[in-house]
Parts: sequence; C-alpha cells; structure tokens
Amino acid sequence: MFFSTYARRDSDYLFHDGARPTGVLLVSTFSNKHGGAISESLGPEAIAGHLIGTFGTTIAIDHIDLQLDQSARAIAAKVARDRPSLVGISVKIGALDQLRNLMRLLLPLRYDEGTGPLLVLGGVVPTFATAALLEEFPQVIMVVREGENATAALVDYVRGERSLASVPGIAFRNESGELVATPAQRLKLAQRFLPARLTSERVHKELGGMVWAEASRGCDFNCTFCSIRDLHGGGFDGGISPESVIADLIELDRRGIRAVSFTDDDFGGVEGGDKPGQWSACDLLSAAV
Ligand code: SF4
Repeated sequence: MFFSTYARRDSDYLFHDGARPTGVLLVSTFSNKHGGAISESLGPEAIAGHLIGTFGTTIAIDHIDLQLDQSARAIAAKVARDRPSLVGISVKIGALDQLRNLMRLLLPLRYDEGTGPLLVLGGVVPTFATAALLEEFPQVIMVVREGENATAALVDYVRGERSLASVPGIAFRNESGELVATPAQRLKLAQRFLPARLTSERVHKELGGMVWAEASRGCDFNCTFCSIRDLHGGGFDGGISPESVIADLIELDRRGIRAVSFTDDDFGGVEGGDKPGQWSACDLLSAAV
C-alpha cells in the first residue's frame, strides 16, 4: 500500500523509540554509466562520520553500498527488522532504476505498530533534479547540496526536537503540495568529523575499488559547464586541516588501505590564494612527519 494523502501530510507515523539509539540506514546506489571505476561512496561515509561525531552512542548507523550488496529486497528486509528512524539513499547519476526498485519496497513499508522510517534522498541527482524527483516521490525529503548538517537536523526532526521547516538544505512538499526549499548550510570543515569508513574496506578488498579522501571542498573558478559551485553552494573551502587529513589516512592505513584518491575539486585552492585555511601538499607532508 502506498501512502494515503492523509499519511503523506502526517509525520506521526515516523518511528522513534527514545529508549534506544536512533537508527539511521544510509544506502548508496551506483551506476556503470557514470564512469567505469568502482569506488566507495564517500558522501554517505562523511555523513555517517558526522552523525557519529555529533550524536555519539545515541545513534546507530549503518551504510549499505549496492556495489557490495545489490538486493533491494534484502535492504527492505533489513529495514523491517532493524526499524531505523531514517533511511537515506544517495542517488547517483544513472541509478534511477535502482532508486525506483528501492522505493517500490520502502515506500509502503510499515513497522508492526504502523510507524515507518523517514525516507530521504540525497546526492547529485536530488540536488539538481529536486522538483522532478519530488514529482515522482512526493512523500520523501530531498537533501540538496552537502548532506551533513541537513541529515543531523533530520535526526533531530525524527526525534521530535525540531520542525521540518527548520532543517537546513532540504526540499519537500508541504501540506498544500507546494515545494518548500530551505536554505542550505555548508559544513564547517574545520570542525569536521572523520568519515565513518563503514564500507571503505570492503569496497577496496572485495571489489578492488578506489577509496576516497578529501582535503577541501569546492572551487573558486566559474567554468560554465561545471556543477561544483552549485553542488557545494559556494566556492573553495580549505577548512579541513592537514592534521585531519592525516588522521583519516592513518585510519585507512590501519584498515590495510594504502592507496587513496582525493575528491578535491581544486586541491590546495588557487595558487597564491589567501583563503583562511588554505594550505599546500607541503603542509600535508609536514603534518605527517
Ligand atoms: S572544479 Fe574544475 S571545472 Fe569546475 S569550476 Fe573548478 S576548475 Fe572549473
């Protein structure tokens, strides 16, 4: 059964049990059409790390990468069994079929007492095709641009601690069916928590996939064909400290991962630039020794 019109407007069905950690399940789609390389999905790993750092033991978070575990049915069964309060799906370019398969099973899913999880879509496609996805899935919440602050605020929302309209960087249909978009809030990179690395090791060891690290986000250039400024909601931000990058690399090394690629759009920023926090590969090396 799909949501009735009434249920679509009613958040009372959202599952929350204050006696146990708030469950969050992140699911990463993938597509062979979007680059041939197998790699981990860093966005959900960064969000998971942010949630763990923010909420500690009051949250229970898991991340399923469809490259590793491809059964939508198994994911739906896990949701029914574990009863997370929030299920977030990272929608990659070329992965709409995977998304539709998942939604076909997750939208009607209800726990025993009639409650269910908040369904959230994030990543590149929800950022740039927000209205189209809300047209197809009017019951869900879209995270637009970076996901850390929005997802943490959505945890507060499912706990009943804040309103949906106060969550930054989301879009949704309100009771009148109008599209509501809230202002995005970039993560303060200087205070970032390390990526959780829930799937990195398996992607690397079982699939030979690439593992990502990041030292900055965004870019100060304005190439007209490029989505980076829109994706991050601004230009270059070099707020991640060399020490934080090294701590992440040490954690990856501890897991037996000795080769990483950086996701940075403009590693180190513009040469000669003077943005706060801007640093070079030399600073990274000196932080490592
Ligand atoms: S990330 Fe690359 S393509 Fe995009 S604006 Fe910067 S320099 Fe141009």
